[in-house]
Amino acid sequence: MQKLDRRDFLKAMGLGAAGLALPGLVGSRGQAEARPNIIFIMTDDHASHALSCYGSRINETPNLDRIAMEGMRFNNCFCTNSICAPSRAVILTGKYSHLNGVTDNKLEFDGTQQTFPKLLQQAGYETAMIGKWHLKSEPTGFDYWNVLPGQGLYHNPVMIEMGERKTYEGYVSDIITDHCLTWLKRREGDKPFCLMYHHKAPHRNWQPAERYMDLYEDDIPLPETFDDDYGTRSAAAREQEMTIERHLVPSDVKEEPPEGLSGRELKRWKYQRYMEDYLRCVQSVDDNVGRLLDYLDESGLAESTVVIYTSDQGFYLGDHGWFDKRFMYEESLRMPLLVRYPKKIKAGSVNDDMVLNLDFGPTFLDLADSAAPTDMQGRSFRRVLLGDTPKDWRTSMYYHYYEYPGWHMVKRHYGVRTRRYKLIHFYYDIDAWELYDLQEDPHELNNVYDDPAYTDVLQNLKVELERLQEQYGDSDDLAKNLLEEHLEGDMPPR
Ligand code: CA
Repeated sequence: MQKLDRRDFLKAMGLGAAGLALPGLVGSRGQAEARPNIIFIMTDDHASHALSCYGSRINETPNLDRIAMEGMRFNNCFCTNSICAPSRAVILTGKYSHLNGVTDNKLEFDGTQQTFPKLLQQAGYETAMIGKWHLKSEPTGFDYWNVLPGQGLYHNPVMIEMGERKTYEGYVSDIITDHCLTWLKRREGDKPFCLMYHHKAPHRNWQPAERYMDLYEDDIPLPETFDDDYGTRSAAAREQEMTIERHLVPSDVKEEPPEGLSGRELKRWKYQRYMEDYLRCVQSVDDNVGRLLDYLDESGLAESTVVIYTSDQGFYLGDHGWFDKRFMYEESLRMPLLVRYPKKIKAGSVNDDMVLNLDFGPTFLDLADSAAPTDMQGRSFRRVLLGDTPKDWRTSMYYHYYEYPGWHMVKRHYGVRTRRYKLIHFYYDIDAWELYDLQEDPHELNNVYDDPAYTDVLQNLKVELERLQEQYGDSDDLAKNLLEEHLEGDMPPR
């Protein structure tokens, strides 16, 4: 388990863990600075390559870009299990899926366990959760919550406010933002706050607001790997059910394809329809985040508030011929992560260090001057935000995906990613390994697992994989036991 630098510091100073001003947060006159407010914005399935600050070729996100321009953009933020509910559970607990209990979308989150919002609450923060929750059990650790049931609806959604169901007229991204603004305006004001502002958009099946229906009608460029034939890949890549061509259904593209279209033409037609609606949904997020940022400016809160933007995982935007997520390949492994805190983060900074969704909880606690408990497995990246990355920062990360058999039929797999390489092991009803040299092959088209030139690399990666499994308390045997539990249940909801 990673040790937190600040915990060591506190220990050395003979101080307690909570509520203390630390050197980096002490003002020039030696006075402890007020703890910042935290607004944690998370979307559902927003890939970083659909943000213009990440170089999108297909859309513009000026409001999200503001967070990057006024703060820090992370190029290597990864999730530990690329699927909705599991990623959310990792974020809340700072623990891998096999420890927080939500290995796949079918399982209910045990809300009695330790989470970062509960710890922030104990540390004197006012906490709120508004928008998409997706963990089946009621939210815990919040002074106020108002969430969509399950996946929620795009139009005229029902929301559950502190246990009470109510239907709202309008579009979901607007309504969630309205609730956030209302909460910000009426909160007590004497405590620092943590607001979780979580959008439903742009999750399948991508239903845009009426006002965006004329956007993106021109041809949207195809990704470079659109016609990937999975030539050197394992059976895993071929047996999945997430292709644009065969697995996008009429309810996804909202109309029957024109008669006579087939093969590549049909695939391109579906891609265009899919991306039009996906990007229109992203547009609603960008506009609404802009409303929130404007409010922070107008109310004077901007200076004292850390604003985080991320998504629960990445997504395939036609890359490899796919939609959806799940695989450990770059497009779904990578999460967008933008953080703005005018007092501490240099505007326009770009960071290449490897940070994980596992680190969010410890980081938020650290920003609130509250050390993360030792059983959280993530590590605070507060110093990374300050431009002072610790010398022993991680150079590899561990991944484990479980939802098989299940929606989209992506085989179970785990793996390790270093700065340059990625090793993946698909298991359960297959035993297939893939190795990618991301420097030579950034699109992961060429599996070099059997290439003798990579013998040493492979051996080192296997040692590193084992080391990470041991560090996080995961193993092949544990995966088999979790598999037994999984197979006793039904198919998870998509
Ligand atoms: Ca998701």
